[in-house]
Amino acid sequence: MVNMKKVILTGDRPTGKLHIGHYAGSLRQRVAMQNSGEYDVYIMIADQQALTDNAKDPAKIRENILEVALDYLSVGLDPTKSTIFIQSQIPALYELTIHYQNLVHLGRLQRNPTIKTEIKERGFEKSIPVGFLTYPIAQAADITAFNANLVPVGEDQLPILEQDREIVRAFNQLYGDILVEPEAVLTSDEKARRLPGLRGIDDKMSKSLNNGIYLSDSPEIVQQKVMEMFTDPDHIRVDDPGKIEGNVVFYYLDVFAPDDPKVAEIKEHYQRGGLGDVVVKKYLIGVLEKILAPIRMRREELAKDPAAIYEILKQGSEKASNVANETLQKVRDAIGISYFDKSN
Ligand code: ATP
Ligand code: MG
Repeated sequence: MVNMKKVILTGDRPTGKLHIGHYAGSLRQRVAMQNSGEYDVYIMIADQQALTDNAKDPAKIRENILEVALDYLSVGLDPTKSTIFIQSQIPALYELTIHYQNLVHLGRLQRNPTIKTEIKERGFEKSIPVGFLTYPIAQAADITAFNANLVPVGEDQLPILEQDREIVRAFNQLYGDILVEPEAVLTSDEKARRLPGLRGIDDKMSKSLNNGIYLSDSPEIVQQKVMEMFTDPDHIRVDDPGKIEGNVVFYYLDVFAPDDPKVAEIKEHYQRGGLGDVVVKKYLIGVLEKILAPIRMRREELAKDPAAIYEILKQGSEKASNVANETLQKVRDAIGISYFDKSN
């Protein structure tokens, strides 16, 4: 039977709880796509990828699987509509990765701008785990295993996805038209594609940099983080005119309250002078709380029954594994290594 629905694959690394950058750049769009009923949606907790730069701390990855799953369900991802699964539980992905490795050259991996940035962020300049350098290849396996057409991601993942597309093209050219070439889907709000971290707009908000507001942060923590946020360093006295460019507080207001007329007013006043950072920050806290309060409430409820969450992940992983096995069989047939299969 031909599947007419487009397939979506997205995922997150269980290196920490999910933050408002994930929400803005990816999660809310995933929920909308899921609820449209127009897509087959696969959501992957990328624990194997997370281990590529956290091999010495597997406990961290294991613990965060539950946290990420709770974040998913509390923002509205729904296991009756989307297949939510754990990457490491899908054996076919490892084998697909091995086959794709032969199609990629070392220099291409080393030139990937996202990998370069992440190597710096992780202090891997002198010595890079092979698994980390090659995660774009494993990601090609994740995407192609489910015949995904669309991959909703934040901006940082575009170079990785471009590399995945190259792998697909190389495979299909060599072995026949087997794999589906995926496309990245960026959220329509340009600023939401790369939400900066709390300490300034140069770094993206990232679990590994610990510069985020998490979906599960308490109201007190949200308040504290916003109050400590980077603004305009030259806005010293309230009467001084303030700059909104490069000012993280205003960046977040643009993303989380884009059509709010009050924000336009605040911006105008801030630039004119006479408006203190604290007033603007308090407004931002209100904006964030409106989004975070219902998520937090749902999360607290769901967290009471971890076994139920694991059951959802188990069922999702079984389903995902069946789909991935079908792709793997096609890949083996195409390469010509199904030696003991009678039809070959
Ligand atoms: P890590 O530091 O472990 O890499 P992360 O915070 O970068 O964690 P990932 O799990 O790597 O999060 O990313 C999951 C998805 O969220 C990806 O599609 C990524 O592009 C997107 N994303 C991550 N950070 C941001 C951000 N600050 N703004 C928008 N999208 C983001
Ligand atoms: Mg990341």
